[in-house]
Amino acid sequence: MWVMCAFPCNLPPMKETTPETDLLYMRQAIREAMKAYDMDEVPVGAVVVANDQIIARGHNLTERLHDVTAHAEMQAITAASNALGAKYLPDCTLYVTLEPCSMCAGALFWSQIGRIVYGASDAKRGYQTMGGQFHPKTLITNGIEADVCGDLLSEFFRSKRVRK
Ligand SMILES: [Zn+2]
Repeated sequence: MWVMCAFPCNLPPMKETTPETDLLYMRQAIREAMKAYDMDEVPVGAVVVANDQIIARGHNLTERLHDVTAHAEMQAITAASNALGAKYLPDCTLYVTLEPCSMCAGALFWSQIGRIVYGASDAKRGYQTMGGQFHPKTLITNGIEADVCGDLLSEFFRSKRVRK
């Protein structure tokens, strides 16, 4: 069980997270991934939660923006910082459908985010394979709705092959 540490801000202390809330927020990240799917983007979605509220959403936009850095996590980090008016996110949890790549792990490192929850593992391009690392204070949970998150990606790439 993970409990948010005290942080000097006006927000009341965050409630304990539970497997149920992890599932709830991961399903919101999956909704974001489905938006990407509908836009013909690789379906990865993310939400940032602070104080039991979703403060930011993001999904992959690399095709739409012609920008290889426009991963779901990058969108969500920027949106969360804008929402809070702060560059560091120690009281936030990022939910993302796929294991972050090393670029996103780097951005998440700089954000000092409190916790990261991801769904499917990415054996080829995940941060673990690519040698990325998170901030030492960041707590990690993985495997939440991993099958749903992974199936969405498999279906996307399968449909791409069929269309060619
Ligand atoms: Zn990434």
